[in-house]
Formats: sequence, C-alpha cells, structure tokens
Amino acid sequence: MKGYNSSTEGLCCCEYENSQGERSHILACCCDCEAFDQAADRCLTCQRVPKGTMEKLFKTVEDRCRLPGIMGQGAVKVRLDVMVPVVTIPTCLFLATLGPVMTFLMLLAMPIFLLWFYRLWKRNTKRENTLFFFSWGLMSVVTVFVVFESCVVGFREILLWEHLLLLTAMFLMFYNFVKTKLNVPYLKSSKRQRSFANTIQSDRRVVYPDESVKVSLEEMTTEDLSESDVKWLDSRPISDGKLITWCQSCNLRKPPRSGHCNVCKACVSVRDHHCVWIDACIGADNHRSFLLSMMLFVFCGYYGAHLSMTTLCTPKMYFDWFLFANDCRFLYIDLQTAASFVITCYSLLAATCMLFGLLFQFLLISQNLTSQEFHVASKRNLLKHGLFATQNVYNQGFIHNWFNFWMTGRSDTRTSVISL
Ligand SMILES: [Zn+2]
Ligand SMILES: [Zn+2]
Repeated sequence: MKGYNSSTEGLCCCEYENSQGERSHILACCCDCEAFDQAADRCLTCQRVPKGTMEKLFKTVEDRCRLPGIMGQGAVKVRLDVMVPVVTIPTCLFLATLGPVMTFLMLLAMPIFLLWFYRLWKRNTKRENTLFFFSWGLMSVVTVFVVFESCVVGFREILLWEHLLLLTAMFLMFYNFVKTKLNVPYLKSSKRQRSFANTIQSDRRVVYPDESVKVSLEEMTTEDLSESDVKWLDSRPISDGKLITWCQSCNLRKPPRSGHCNVCKACVSVRDHHCVWIDACIGADNHRSFLLSMMLFVFCGYYGAHLSMTTLCTPKMYFDWFLFANDCRFLYIDLQTAASFVITCYSLLAATCMLFGLLFQFLLISQNLTSQEFHVASKRNLLKHGLFATQNVYNQGFIHNWFNFWMTGRSDTRTSVISL
C-alpha cells in the first residue's frame, strides 16, 4: 500500500486506528466505551456527570463516527457537526408528518435545539469553527427542495412560469451565498507591519535596528480619545481612555470599522458579523451579496409556501387577483400531502426568522451602521428608542446611505494596508 501511512496498512474498509492508537472496527462503535460506562453509572445513581467525562464521551463518539473507506485507508472519519443535521432534519420532518400535534412539536423542537446549540457554542471561549449551522442550513434547503419537487411539482398543479420563477430565485440565492462566502474582506498585514511585530520585545517595547529609539508598544498601538472624537462608535476595544488599534493575533493596525473575528481568526474590513449559516464573516466586500441572498431566501420561502398551500388546499380568489388557500381539511390524508404541508410550514418558519434578520439589516444600512457598531452603541447607551444610533458620523442620510451601499458597498471606508 504505497503512499499510505504505515499505520493504515492492512486495514479493511471498515477498520480504523482509534484515538488511542488501537485497531478498531466501525461495527464495534457501541462497545467498550469507558466514558459512556462512567456517565451511565453516574446518571443511574443520580450523580452529576463531571465535565471531563462528558468531553471524553464526545471525543469518543466523534472518533467512532466513521464510514467505510474505498481508497484502502480504512474507515473514514466523518465530522459529527456535519452529520447531526444530515440525520436530524429528515428524521424530524418525517416525524412531523404523523399528525398536527407532531408537526407543532417538531417545528418547536428544531428551533429550540438550534438555539441551545448556538448558546453552547457561543459560551465556549475557544469558539472552535463548526460546520453545524452551515450543514443545517444546506440540509434544510436540500430536503425542502427535494420534497417540493417530488411531492408538490410532481403531483400538483404548478404553472411552468411559477416553477421557473422559483428555480431562478433559488439559483440566484445560491450564487449570492457562494459569492458572499468567497469574498470575505480579510485584512492582511503589510511587510512593514510584520517587521514591526517582530521587533516587539518581551518587555513590550519596540526596538529599532540601530537601537537608538525605543517606543513603548502602547504608544504605537493606541490612540488617545478626546471629547470631540467620535470613537464611541468605533468598535475597536477601548482601554483606559485609549483606543486599541493594534490586533496582536493578526499583527496589523486595524483601520476604523474593522474588527477581529474569533471564529475566522482574522481581521475583517468594515466587519458586520460572523454569519454561522454560511460560516463566513460579513464585511465591506460581501455585504451586498449577503443582503441579496437573504432577500432571495425570504422570497423563495414565502413564494414556495404560497405555491404549495394553494395546491394542497382548495384555493379561493381574493380581490380578483390574489389566490389563497381556503379549504385545508385533508392535509394529513396521505404521506405525500403531509410531507408537502410539513415542508411548507418549515419554509414559512425559516423565511420568517430570516425576515427578522433582514429587517435588522435594513435598519442598519439605512443608518450606515454595522452590527458590531450597533452593539457598541447599545452598550454605551447611545441608541434612541433602542434602534437608532445618535452622533453617527457615518450616517449621510437614508437615501445616500442606501445609494452608497449598492454602488460602492462599504469599501469607501476600507483601507486594507495602513502604514504605521
Ligand atoms: Zn485580527
Ligand atoms: Zn468570522
């Protein structure tokens, strides 16, 4: 087996070397787990399970979550954060087809599970990169699309132009999501900034090559704040009346409106927020495509739900132009109808959640504000009615803000390399 690690030699497609370096088989995934035995013992005797045991249990589960390999390298490890949504979403949506009570329970349980996981992940100080939300979003769209195409388009009366309109909107939505993910405006440190970072000594002083000038690190990496300054809106950290303008993780001087992302482990120009659904930061260059994809997502969700409901229920014409579902008595008559109804409810739920996010983005862009600036303003009690930032120097008026956003993005304030 040339080319493969010697430790994988002689492994069949279902065998692998586990985290302890022992040979194991995927069929033995439920056997001999010390952490599970300890956790079960403690649960049965009503004792608290120690954090270390739980971590060990999660690691073991992650290590044993594998699929047979076809390249001769043994069983391949699959990421648990990717696999959980792949299994959970179809299972929950199938259970939801069993009746109205199950539909309600499943559609309630799924957002609660998501929120619980999000809080758990946010509380984790290490904030490890996870593909859980990305996988959840993608799996949701794929499941809803497959059920819609097979159960609604295949058996119900959908006009060709309605179908084409939905498919075009979905294509554009994916195009903009990919564009958003690929165009994250990460800041890079210049050569001069890198050499500056290298000259920082252990006593936090900067030594120039001739050793003639010594300047404290704080002097080089901070700015004094004055009354007239508008630094209140600056999302860069403030310590003892000084603005910290140097990112130690990235070794660069952060321009105004930029921010460091703990998930991406990089500084981002005009940083808005880190979107867990596409697993990327939103900033100067990709904010427009992000907003477009959100708008298209909301359109697809509501329009798809409208098409489904008007075919699942006997529709009625309102005001001579608007067709709406009227008689919905037979939604659980068979699996195909129930599945169509469940994905309709799921789409409505997802589109409504996204709509709130979209409205928040509209509020921010109308004021030329980023999410992180909004949170800073909120912390410093500078929000009027909890929504509008006061003393916002970036605000050029509603029409100007929107014009600048669509024409230039937010790149007008972007400086990728700032000299020291
Ligand atoms: Zn940084
Ligand atoms: Zn990020």
